[in-house]
Amino acid sequence: MNTIIMGLPGAGKGTQAEQIVATYHIPHISTGDMFRAAMKNKTDLGLKAKEYMDNGELVPDEVTNGIVKDRLAQPDTKNGFLLDGYPRTLNQAKALEETMKEFGRSIDLVINIDVDPAILMDRLTGRIICSKCGATYHKLFNPPKEKGVCDRCGSTEFYQRDDDKPETVKNRIEVNTTQSAPIIEFYKNKGVLKTVNGAEDIDKVFGKIQDFFEETK
Ligand SMILES: [Zn+2]
Repeated sequence: MNTIIMGLPGAGKGTQAEQIVATYHIPHISTGDMFRAAMKNKTDLGLKAKEYMDNGELVPDEVTNGIVKDRLAQPDTKNGFLLDGYPRTLNQAKALEETMKEFGRSIDLVINIDVDPAILMDRLTGRIICSKCGATYHKLFNPPKEKGVCDRCGSTEFYQRDDDKPETVKNRIEVNTTQSAPIIEFYKNKGVLKTVNGAEDIDKVFGKIQDFFEETK
């Protein structure tokens, strides 16, 4: 099964990806890993990508597409793969279509983990850190035993990392929503998009994903 997993930050994509690759024995191909490998192995494209990154520039699509193509040509993908973090633009999605065509294959299933942005906000802005001892909590998932009081040192002062602050998170969600909308549309039109409600608990979401795999076989 040639699969793509999509989802906004905080949607639980990483957790589901882990379960998918463990269950279906397909390689998890994330953009980050791919770039690191290409740079470590000093492939032509890896070196090119590194040049852009070292200069603080965005890696152009043709370089990224080439790195993905090299990766998908490797023999461990012959029974399928799970792409994660790619395609990120409509152009990349189209390039992936071309690559697959060239390989005589196609994308079979695109899993979209959909979560209401308000829920993502709660998940992603919940982390608080004790100002005195540095203990980390999450307002939803791991709150202090007594509200507003650190379990470890009793302090009542907490702070948030910049990355966890509401305005930063809101912006990140908006940018990602805008970016993924045309890709979701593209795969919807191809009839391969399946959406699961990521607000459900982890096992329920994975159960639904297993249904997708069954239906797509
Ligand atoms: Zn503390």
